[in-house]
Amino acid sequence: MGVSAVVLALGWCQLYLGHTRIIEPMKVKTQSKKVNKSWLNDHVNDPYVKLAQKEGYRARAAYKLKEIDETLGLVKPGQLIVDLGSAPGAWSQYLRRRLSPGGAAVGELDGTLLAVDLLPMEPVEGVRFVHGDFTNPEVLARLQALLEGRLADLVVSDMAPNLSGIESSDAARIEALVELALDFARHHMKAEGALVVKLFHGSGYSQLVKLFKDNFRVVKPIKPKASRDKSSETFLVGRGLKPLKAQGGL
Ligand code: SAM
Repeated sequence: MGVSAVVLALGWCQLYLGHTRIIEPMKVKTQSKKVNKSWLNDHVNDPYVKLAQKEGYRARAAYKLKEIDETLGLVKPGQLIVDLGSAPGAWSQYLRRRLSPGGAAVGELDGTLLAVDLLPMEPVEGVRFVHGDFTNPEVLARLQALLEGRLADLVVSDMAPNLSGIESSDAARIEALVELALDFARHHMKAEGALVVKLFHGSGYSQLVKLFKDNFRVVKPIKPKASRDKSSETFLVGRGLKPLKAQGGL
């Protein structure tokens, strides 16, 4: 069984080549075997898992970004797009196909795609990948170097911390990643660009919506159908950066 099949069968954020401690955002230590079994059962019967296998995506997550894009019309030919927290690569695969004149997974690419993740990522043709922690200034500098002074049209972040189950510390870690993504967009995205971030309902959510409203002209919360109802995961899209002097600051 190849890596993609393992990821799709067991779920990227539950298991990826032994990196379970780094990426188990929705799993806490108290979870019983019964719950794991029911999760696995839900997962193998999930229509998006089946569709991802059929369409050659590495994870069902591709359909979350697809719905966000189809609802809001974010991706356009010729764009420079940055994918934060990109592994195993389903969002990068989706973006790569969207920037291909014929929607192909390989061949001509009309645009530029950059991606970063803590974990290794199998290459996605046409995507330039930086392996490292986005919160590390040296990793950020490597990503900045790939921008070659250009500004992004779209920044997407599916980054999620390893949740501990302690609400206040989890909220702080999620908030920190969203703030970093926003800071990156502030410095490296066109004023008319868009930022998509993953976040979680619960403490900290309303503060992050306020932060987005302070920084963007249009803010749209969106929970795509592929994001499981049971999960508190949701997404926020900010479009059109407000001038710095007009917003509350980061
Ligand atoms: N969008 C991806 C896809 O479609 O395949 C799935 C992303 S997965 C839900 C979240 C990713 O965020 C993990 O691969 C994790 O390693 C990454 N991540 C979390 N914190 C990070 C950080 N500080 N720097 C870089 N990547 C990070």
